[in-house]
Amino acid sequence: MKKAIAIRVRGIVQGVGFRPFVHQTAQRHGISGSVLNDTEGVVIHAEGEEGDLEEFMRELHDNFPPLAMIMSIVSEEIPLIAGAGFVIEESRITKERAAFYSPDVAVCDQCLSEFFDTRNRRHRYPFITCIQCGPRFSIVRDIPYDRRNTSMNPFTMCAACTAEYRDPADRRFHSQPNACPECGPKMSLYDNNKKLAVPDGDAAQAVVELLRRGRIIAIKGIGGYHLAADGLNDGAVLELRKRKRRPFKPFALMAGSIGIMERFCDITPAERRLLESKERPIVLIRGRGRQVSGYVAPGLSFFGFMLSYTPFQHHLFSLDPDMVLVMTSGNISDEPIEHRDETVFERLGRIADYFVTYDREIIGQGDDSVLYVVDEKPYFIRRSRGYVPAPLLSSESSRSILAMGGDLKNSFAVARKGFIIMSQYLGDMEDPLTLDVFKKTVQHFIKIFDAGPEVIVADMHPGYITRQYAREMAGEGTQIVEVQHHHAHIASVMEEHDLHAPIIGVAFDGTGYGTDGSLWGSEFLIAGRGEFERAAHFSNFLLPGGESAITDVWKIGLSLLYQAFGRDYPVMARDADAGNVIEIIEKKINAALTCSIGRIFDGVAAILGISSFVSTEAEAAQLLEEAALRGTSRIPLFTIPFSGTSEIIINTVELTEHIVSLITGGMKIDDIAADFHQSIIQTTAAVCRSLRERTRINEVALSGGVFHNRILLAGIIDRLHEAGFSVYTHRFVPCNDGCIALGQIAVAKELLR
Ligand code: ZN
Ligand code: ZN
Ligand code: FE
Repeated sequence: MKKAIAIRVRGIVQGVGFRPFVHQTAQRHGISGSVLNDTEGVVIHAEGEEGDLEEFMRELHDNFPPLAMIMSIVSEEIPLIAGAGFVIEESRITKERAAFYSPDVAVCDQCLSEFFDTRNRRHRYPFITCIQCGPRFSIVRDIPYDRRNTSMNPFTMCAACTAEYRDPADRRFHSQPNACPECGPKMSLYDNNKKLAVPDGDAAQAVVELLRRGRIIAIKGIGGYHLAADGLNDGAVLELRKRKRRPFKPFALMAGSIGIMERFCDITPAERRLLESKERPIVLIRGRGRQVSGYVAPGLSFFGFMLSYTPFQHHLFSLDPDMVLVMTSGNISDEPIEHRDETVFERLGRIADYFVTYDREIIGQGDDSVLYVVDEKPYFIRRSRGYVPAPLLSSESSRSILAMGGDLKNSFAVARKGFIIMSQYLGDMEDPLTLDVFKKTVQHFIKIFDAGPEVIVADMHPGYITRQYAREMAGEGTQIVEVQHHHAHIASVMEEHDLHAPIIGVAFDGTGYGTDGSLWGSEFLIAGRGEFERAAHFSNFLLPGGESAITDVWKIGLSLLYQAFGRDYPVMARDADAGNVIEIIEKKINAALTCSIGRIFDGVAAILGISSFVSTEAEAAQLLEEAALRGTSRIPLFTIPFSGTSEIIINTVELTEHIVSLITGGMKIDDIAADFHQSIIQTTAAVCRSLRERTRINEVALSGGVFHNRILLAGIIDRLHEAGFSVYTHRFVPCNDGCIALGQIAVAKELLR
């Protein structure tokens, strides 16, 4: 029997070859009808024999193109029109505007082989792309996803490109960034004085030679400029550190093949899959034997490596396959990645000797994504290029929500019916340029996802700029919801795993504003989505000197020592500076109370003499973890004493005393570092067991930036599994404050129900 159905497909289905796929599938199954894009997704009219229609639907579900991401397919029966053939119709604008965009992905193999084919008309053309690959999110200005709404708009396609664009059988059919050397963007190499360094065209050869000579080159990529330098050349890498004013924070590396990376690193199968994925993130992999420059990641045993992903990068590595490049975001210290041609010479002029640029605007800027793998499971550190703005599925929300996230490592999020979209990594709001980019990106997301908020969610920290901005933005009738920081951490894990019943949430964090006005950060919560109870935490200590303690970690060490031993503390220096800090502690002026475990890591690193000052937030903790990797902990393990019933307090003083006893007992620093990690692991599991006894809850969620620590993450998961807990960790967002916006949405959705 013949039947006709109307099918509505939502998800990433535009600009990824979905319509030609529907067209071909329909023809294969003898289906007549039509397919078109509208502002909600794709609409299909299909007529055919019942069995054929079923087959057709099954194939839509199972075999969609690689970049497509189907969120829902809804179909309903309609009257027969009895037309013949299957056609692709003109795009249509509907009332609902909810189209999605593919993230920017790596150039595909087919395009790459054309790129290196001397007979191809796009031979060595850096903007070669097709419906399966290349830029998307970074070039979108507005909906619907049509060329005129992208930064390709100024480029008029030549006859050859137009023919490809219009041919449903061509792999560049409706590929919005379609271009060629005749009609598309052009790449050029400039020197530091904005003078063209080589005639138009083949900049790659010149760039490789400059890199070999130790020069630093700003290269415009997908989401912004990279700063490139020869990663095997100490002089070049050190110079880049000096000019970027970045003494410690590791640089990302790029290689042209896995084989080259393996000269320097051990790569596990899961790491390899990530490295080779179309998202092409930076993956932290363990170094070994032969070394890249010691200035790439000083003191650390993991390197952030990625494979080349743009045609131009592939070109560079084809000219020198042995090359390893530092490819770090083009910015000065913590400013946002530079992506504008108007300002790049001014902003990066003191860093880069040369500039590779092109005449297409980057609209959605973004850094490379960063992941690490523990027990063959991937975890995000930074979710950005390649992943943003793919939607995360979510339970129904009746209202449109904007969640601001936190002030540090910010990503915000928008939520509408049935989906959440996280923004790219934006950085720290105390930097005025970052704040500016944050505000612009919020507005950009509202526009391209048509997501004007009815509800705005922010962290409850009274000093947070994001909270301030939420209040500025909220218009008449906009509801504001405030969420406690660590509740958001745990709620984000719940959202990712679709958990609804209360769980034990362990939020180990740098800092977050608590409901009692102190700085929290070692929280064990009994958390539902809508509410939580603070069930356990480390006992408070003072952060002397306010903000300065974050960089002068020796002050935290001193504070811990003073808390345990008074003025007669047995280790660390007792000089004039120390005297000043002790005075601050005793008078409690300019000293905040905190229980942050991130700060405990800082303090312990200082007590052990591993770190005194840090240039970046996690530096002391990372070096402490490195020491622990070198050391071995002793048996039996030390469980930090804790007490209390309705609110368990873990005794920070006894932890300090324990560490000091190991030092004065003559134990090696690396072994003490290992012992410290094991104590935290042991204690965390013990506290969870104690909470389970009281609450009967057997599910534990882990969140907070401290879980970037591999020893801690793997150790706590292991120990909890041994104790019979179900353990939930992040899957789609980082455990650091990059997850806050997702958690804020989860809490707001519950409160609005
Ligand atoms: Zn391609
Ligand atoms: Zn062309
Ligand atoms: Fe946090």
